Amino acid sequence: MTKVEYKHTHIAAKKKLGQNFLTDRNIPRKIVRESGIAPGDRVLEIGPGFGALSTAILETVHSFTAIEKDKELARFIRQEHPEIELIEGDFLKVPLEPIAEGGKIAVLGNIPYSITSPILFRLLDNRHLISSATLMMQHEVALRLAAEPGTKEYGILAVQLQAFCEVKYLFKVGRAVFKPRPEVDSAVIRMVPKATDPVADSEGFRRFVRCIFHQRRKTILNNLKEEYDTSSVPEITLKLRAEALEVKELIDLFELLRPLKSPDKSVITATEPPDASSSV
Ligand code: SAH
Repeated sequence: MTKVEYKHTHIAAKKKLGQNFLTDRNIPRKIVRESGIAPGDRVLEIGPGFGALSTAILETVHSFTAIEKDKELARFIRQEHPEIELIEGDFLKVPLEPIAEGGKIAVLGNIPYSITSPILFRLLDNRHLISSATLMMQHEVALRLAAEPGTKEYGILAVQLQAFCEVKYLFKVGRAVFKPRPEVDSAVIRMVPKATDPVADSEGFRRFVRCIFHQRRKTILNNLKEEYDTSSVPEITLKLRAEALEVKELIDLFELLRPLKSPDKSVITATEPPDASSSV
């Protein structure tokens, strides 16, 4: 386990918490610049750690909120930067509404890589509270987020995110600028929620995207036929693979489908108390 020391605090970096601390001053500044935040904006940082990015954020806004799960690091930030409103907790659980009470929040973070997807989906679910999110993540995941149709990176993550947000790949960051050094390179992306949702039933759309990309080599028809009535979809479309369709085309396709069974029904069945007679 790598020991990391900074000012009066040293910790054993916790792999589980994705602790790879930035040791470079220029990259945090570049992240802040690309985020487009301006003085007076409401900002939320995920996982400030020892404050590499926080210090750069403070060059633009004089106070903001940060959520840090590590107790020692939370204490460090409180001591070092009393101007930051530090919430000790898990970003995946802390309610975001109170933070966004005075206006939409710009989210920034060099995020723990092991929970990148849950963080992205939490941001997506809270998109009405968010003006933008500028995040550093594993390079490979950043490519998947910003991927274009027809590429091997294009799949569930790209479609989910790009349906509701403008997603931009910004720049790559090599592993050498972190301590401890991660095994992969990183990249920074920015996502900005669209002003209006392109689909009314976003839960239904999420299920649809999972279903249509379930087996990438299969045709759209083969992926969908168990779950949806596809009779109103042109045959030529059904013969394609999901990765051939642009996000907009996938949304249009979703609007043509009717689920064969209600998803609520399966939830009820699953939570029903065990019935003695059914096991006979
Ligand atoms: N921003 C700092 C630290 C990045 S490492 C820098 O760039 O140097 C990721 C940080 O996220 C660590 O400080 C880690 O403790 C914190 N973290 C991990 N899981 C978290 C969670 N669920 N919620 C909030 N913070 C978390």
